[in-house]
Amino acid sequence: MTRDPTAQMQFLFQLRSRGVTDSAVLMAMEKIDRGQFVGGTFEGHAYDDMPLPIACGQTISQPSVVGLMTQALGVQPRDKVLEVGTGSGYQAAILGQLARRVYTIDRHRALAREAERRLEAARITNVTVICADGCFGLPEQAPFDRILVTAAAEDPPGPLLQQLKPGGVMVLPVGQSDTVQSLIKVTRTETGFDYDELLPVRFVPLVEGMPNG
Ligand code: SAH
Repeated sequence: MTRDPTAQMQFLFQLRSRGVTDSAVLMAMEKIDRGQFVGGTFEGHAYDDMPLPIACGQTISQPSVVGLMTQALGVQPRDKVLEVGTGSGYQAAILGQLARRVYTIDRHRALAREAERRLEAARITNVTVICADGCFGLPEQAPFDRILVTAAAEDPPGPLLQQLKPGGVMVLPVGQSDTVQSLIKVTRTETGFDYDELLPVRFVPLVEGMPNG
């Protein structure tokens, strides 16, 4: 499907007006077609700035939030990045435009498989999808320059903090309920961690363990 140029212009305009100003992030979001990651019924809303339902009761995040999270992560071209919460694969596709290597984990096998198929269709070759519990990170590929979590935990999971390189950055939503969450940025220093609160957000929860069946 080719994108309607007017919808594409509006999409980029909305991103800018909501604070996504980093040119590398905007270029990556211009290149990756969100329509390819939004299936079926909701495809007509792919370029609206709203979260949309995907399979397994999950959601593809709102584009401006994807942009703001990616911008806050400050990905460098040589970085190895971990994403926890593959969902549709859209965020991972954008990270793939900015980083050298991306690993993305989801606990739902059906989502991981579908995301893998979509990334392949989009000819993205530096993103690997893994089906596992992302609360433990990915020890075999650690440490990471950047970690992005796209599901909300009460606190940053310990294994993810441990798998961050010194100087590395992790961006994640934290909160004690489904309704009140903050996006935070954690920077690993030589001696510990610095925490910055960025903006209020609303994400599906980070769930420990694998689904039954
Ligand atoms: N980044 C996605 C949207 C993520 S929605 C996109 O661009 O479309 C949050 C995802 O986190 C869901 O797919 C959910 O299955 C996943 N998730 C929740 N808890 C998890 C865990 N412990 N490990 C891995 N994935 C998890």
